[in-house]
Amino acid sequence: MNSIKEFFQSADWKKEKHVPVIEGPDKVKKGKIFQIKIGVGKEIAHPNTTEHHIRWIEIYFLAQGEKFPYQLGKFDFTSHGESTQGPDTSGVYTHPEIVLSFKTDKAGVILAGSYCNIHGLWESAKGIEVE
Ligand code: FE
Repeated sequence: MNSIKEFFQSADWKKEKHVPVIEGPDKVKKGKIFQIKIGVGKEIAHPNTTEHHIRWIEIYFLAQGEKFPYQLGKFDFTSHGESTQGPDTSGVYTHPEIVLSFKTDKAGVILAGSYCNIHGLWESAKGIEVE
């Protein structure tokens, strides 16, 4: 039987347009709210059409020493040009990029997953230190 984890692909985001890019501080103050930005297509733009687009980004935080990650949020990108006139006619497209704020008492790793409607699941990670 297959496992979903077999289907998460990863690569260098500078060379592969599907990888979610996590931007934010490398070190934060304990308990102080900070921002991270997560987006797909930072270096190489990903298409955004009715036929081919990024559907969602999901963010988790694995705190140091813990077994399970906490979900920080899930963001659905739901407009991709469709309208009553047909595909790619509305001129309205959700861009696959979000800004998220959170705080943590513990260092850990931010884990991001993204989904392209025709190229599947992608992932990346970024460590955060706490002082
Ligand atoms: Fe794609």
